[in-house]
Amino acid sequence: MADINSNQEEVIAVTQEWSVPFKHYAGEITGRYLKELRDNKIIMGRRCPKCKKVLVPARKNCESCFTETDEWVKVKDIGTLVTFSINCMKYVSMPDPPYVMALIKLDGADTSIMHFVKGIDLSDIDKAGKNLKIGTRMQAVWKDKRIGNVTDIDYFMPVIE
Ligand SMILES: [Zn+2]
Repeated sequence: MADINSNQEEVIAVTQEWSVPFKHYAGEITGRYLKELRDNKIIMGRRCPKCKKVLVPARKNCESCFTETDEWVKVKDIGTLVTFSINCMKYVSMPDPPYVMALIKLDGADTSIMHFVKGIDLSDIDKAGKNLKIGTRMQAVWKDKRIGNVTDIDYFMPVIE
């Protein structure tokens, strides 16, 4: 409660919790992208006919020039670490911390995908952050049971080269 002689207003916080599960049609492009993950463990991108960028995940329009993409391109399930974050807080629908989220540019793609990285010793967060280097090669680890979701790739892990 605020002091009656204080000039500061009392701040009242309201705690609410929403749970809104929903399902929607993935669409033609995302639908095929997810089906290839599920059925073939293949990651597909779409090439922009104007700027020639290969966009992954596959999408209908180029994020750079908004041109409609017109070509399917198979990219590798191995790529390069672009950036990462070691998360130390608990978020809804996320794993127990600490865990690593990263942007990974797959070989053959011009954009990056966001995914989990495992195989990193997180017992000392500061040390882990210093040891994980931008440019590290990362390999996708696939789930055995895939459902047509980006999580069909379980996680990425550093490649020992
Ligand atoms: Zn483009």
